[in-house]
Amino acid sequence: MGNSENFDVVIIGGGVAGISAAFWCNELGLSSVILESEKELGGQLLWTYNAIKNYLGIEAENGRELQKIFLNQIEKRNLSIKTNTKVSQIDTKNKTVLLEDGKILSAKFLVIATGIRRRKLNVAGEEAFQGKGILRSGKRDAELVRGKNVCVIGGGDAAVENALILAETAEKVTLIHRRKNFRAREEFIEKVKLNPKITVLTEMEITKIIGDESLEAIELKQITTNQTQIYQTDALLLRIGVEPNNELFRGQIELDKNGYCLIDSNCETSAMDVFAIGDIANPAAPTISSAVGMGATVSKVIETRQK
Ligand SMILES: Cc1cc2nc3c(=O)[nH]c(=O)nc-3n(C[C@H](O)[C@H](O)[C@H](O)COP(=O)(O)OP(=O)(O)OC[C@H]3O[C@@H](n4cnc5c(N)ncnc54)[C@H](O)[C@@H]3O)c2cc1C
Repeated sequence: MGNSENFDVVIIGGGVAGISAAFWCNELGLSSVILESEKELGGQLLWTYNAIKNYLGIEAENGRELQKIFLNQIEKRNLSIKTNTKVSQIDTKNKTVLLEDGKILSAKFLVIATGIRRRKLNVAGEEAFQGKGILRSGKRDAELVRGKNVCVIGGGDAAVENALILAETAEKVTLIHRRKNFRAREEFIEKVKLNPKITVLTEMEITKIIGDESLEAIELKQITTNQTQIYQTDALLLRIGVEPNNELFRGQIELDKNGYCLIDSNCETSAMDVFAIGDIANPAAPTISSAVGMGATVSKVIETRQK
C-alpha cells in the first residue's frame, strides 16, 4: 500500500486499555500507534466523577485525576498518539485500518480497545434536551437539581446509586425501571427504600421527553396496561446500561451474544494476530485494573510472537 504508515501494532481506542498497551509496546521495543476518536485519551475516565479507590497503588478523586497521572507517565515515552482520529474500517485479515480522513495504516498486529458506550433510549427529545434537563452524571450535576424534581431511569447499580446521590440535593427523585425487580445490589436498594425523598415506579417505560426551551416532563407507559401518562420533572438522568463499540469488526471476529469480543487467555480474538482488550472483551470484570493488565498481556504476547 503506497501511502500507508506501518507499525508493529495498531491500537484502536485510547482508553485505559489502549494506553496500557501502547505503554507496554514501548517498554518492549515494539512500534505502535494509538488511534482515538475523541480529542483526548482516557475513554471512560473522562466521564467518571466518583473517586477511584480500587485501583491498586493509586487513589484518585475522579477519573480525570487518574487520566492525568497516566498521561504524565506516558509523556516521557514519546508514544505515537493520534487523537481526533476515528477509525472507520478495519481489515482483520490484512491488518489494515482505514481512518475517517481516508488514510490507511497497516500493522503486523491489531489491538482492539474500543470499550463501551452508554446505551441510549432512542426516544423523541433525547438529543434535543442533552444539557437542557438531561443530566450527565448524578455526582457532577447534583448542584443543578438542588430543590428540584428529578427522574432517574434504569434498574442497575448505576441508576440506583445515582438516585441516592441526587436525593442529597433534589427535592424529589423518582426512580423508574421497566422491570418489576431491580438488578442493583441489595445495599443500594435498601437505602432507596429508607429514603423519603425517593419514589420508585416499576414496569414503566419512558416513551418521550417533553419540553420547550428545556425539559419539562416525560411521557411514561405502563408496560402491563400500555397506558401512558405525562410525568412532570425538571431533570432526567439515564442509566440504562452500556453496549460494546463493536461496529468496526462485527462479522470479522467472533462475538458473544451481547456483542463483546470473544478472546483466549492471550487476549487473541478468532482472527489471528488480532487482539481485544479492556471492556470490549471483558464484560464480566470491566475495571481499570483488568484493562491495564490486558494491555500488558497483549504486548508481551506480541513481543514473543515477533521473535
Ligand atoms: C462512572 C464510571 C465509574 C467507574 N468507576 C470505576 C472504578 O471505581 N474502578 C474501576 O476499576 N473501574 C471503574 N469504571 C470502569 C472503568 O472506567 C473501565 O473498565 C475502563 O476505563 C475501561 O477502559 P477501556 O480502555 O477498555 O475502554 P474505554 O474507556 O471505553 O475506552 C475506549 C476508547 O475507544 C475509543 N473508540 C471507540 N471506537 C473508536 C473508533 N472507531 N476509533 C477510534 N477510537 C474509538 C473511545 O472513544 C474510547 O476513548 C467506571 C466506569 C464508569 C463509566
